[in-house]
Amino acid sequence: MTADASAAPPEKPREADRSADPAAPVPGLVLVSTPIGNLGDVSPRARAALAEADLVLCEDTARSARLLSALGLRARTLSLHEHNEDARIPAVLKRLEAGATVALISDAGTPLVSDPGFRLVRAAIAAGTAVRAVPGPNAAVTALVLSGLPPLPFLVLGFPPPRAAARRAAFAGLRAAERAGLAATLIWYEAPHRLAEMLGDLAQVFGDRPAAVARELTKTFEEVRRGSVTALAAWAEATPPRGEITVLLGPPAEEMAVAEAGLDAQLRAALAGQSVRDAAALVAAATGLPRKLVYARALALSGGG
Ligand code: SAM
Repeated sequence: MTADASAAPPEKPREADRSADPAAPVPGLVLVSTPIGNLGDVSPRARAALAEADLVLCEDTARSARLLSALGLRARTLSLHEHNEDARIPAVLKRLEAGATVALISDAGTPLVSDPGFRLVRAAIAAGTAVRAVPGPNAAVTALVLSGLPPLPFLVLGFPPPRAAARRAAFAGLRAAERAGLAATLIWYEAPHRLAEMLGDLAQVFGDRPAAVARELTKTFEEVRRGSVTALAAWAEATPPRGEITVLLGPPAEEMAVAEAGLDAQLRAALAGQSVRDAAALVAAATGLPRKLVYARALALSGGG
């Protein structure tokens, strides 16, 4: 196993020594979220987890060395990325079995979310190793709460396929899922040079509807643009933005109205004292939403749908 030689402090005590010290690090795999741009977002627990780890697995050792040094930490690092994750697993499991504390970070944000680590976590769980997480920044959730789009349910889709045909096919699959009942705010990560094209495809496949583009979140040039997906596509075409970008698309119009009206809360209150039919009629009149839609939702909430 090769480690970043430039940052290789002496090995920390093994499990046997730790048992005598109640303040010693807990052995196991710990998934540590790191900032998506603002160093101030490193939590005290994240810092402590990195400080006490025997080994820090990271996508890019040079990039993580910068983070660790900015935090004033010296840690033994080892690369774990898309192309070597499978090969790394046996040796990492061996260290975990020997009682090591191994931290996993990605280049930014929460590991595993559009980042490596899932296969390692699955293997660690299967091996009976303790797996813990230090939660923290995530670009998708940060963009969601700033977007002004319905926050629940949401669906994080990672990066769309880079090629136009595959991307449109992926979007068409989601649109079909919407026709079958999916009603969620959809979230993608996207590269700046593909943004205009991607937004154009969204408009074409989903039709014009509310959307948002969140750029450089938590950084100096943070920007959240909200508007119709067509208007956002035109903006991205005219002034290609730079930096790190997350794209959000609101649910289809009917579901948007439902979310805005707080339909479920109103129905639950009405269902407490009356039949599904009466509750649906009352709430349909109060919200102006279609009776059929409100009745179907009331039925589902009452457990009959
Ligand atoms: N695991 C990360 C997380 O928890 O947010 C996401 C990893 S994914 C490989 C990286 C992508 O997330 C970027 O290409 C960009 O689309 C999005 N992203 C990361 N940081 C961002 C930021 N500060 N503002 C907006 N989007 C960001």
